[in-house]
Amino acid sequence: MAPKQRTSRRQGAAPATAPARLWAPWRQQYLKMSTGSRACIFCFGKLTEVERRKRLVLFENQDAVVMLNRYPYTSGHLMVAPRRHIASPELLDRDERNVISDLVAHSVKVMRPLMNAHGFNLGANLGRSAGAGFADHMHWHVVPRWDGDTNFMTVLASTRVLSQSLEDSFKQLRPVFKTAGAELS
Ligand SMILES: [Zn+2]
Repeated sequence: MAPKQRTSRRQGAAPATAPARLWAPWRQQYLKMSTGSRACIFCFGKLTEVERRKRLVLFENQDAVVMLNRYPYTSGHLMVAPRRHIASPELLDRDERNVISDLVAHSVKVMRPLMNAHGFNLGANLGRSAGAGFADHMHWHVVPRWDGDTNFMTVLASTRVLSQSLEDSFKQLRPVFKTAGAELS
């Protein structure tokens, strides 16, 4: 019997129906780094303004912290995490859940007009098998998106472009998170 004809598809080519994915090769470095043992980026004490800028911390209070992702999918990609070093959302207390939920909403609210974002990806990866870089300290990702950004990022992706935009993102977003405390209380 003749072997069954296989449908040919160029290796590596995505099927036409697959959703467009962001291509972010600089994240490989982040994933490599995060599998080694090192201090948790979400756990820190009181920060000076210099340390804050270095760590890209946009906001923190007793319950939660907001920081820019050093290896972002897009400009403005930030993370919202509890202050406590815990791995899963069922371990959060009521206050932490409320504050985190408010901070995610605040992030979308301020970034939409400020960065002219057309859409957002919101989500969390729980556990290494789900793709978490820092699996022991859970965090939500807020990723601004723009129409056609998959094409844009593929063309312009380079660490140089991004490190510049990280600084810009911090300068742009820090003022609108400085006031978040008043809105959350
Ligand atoms: Zn931690």
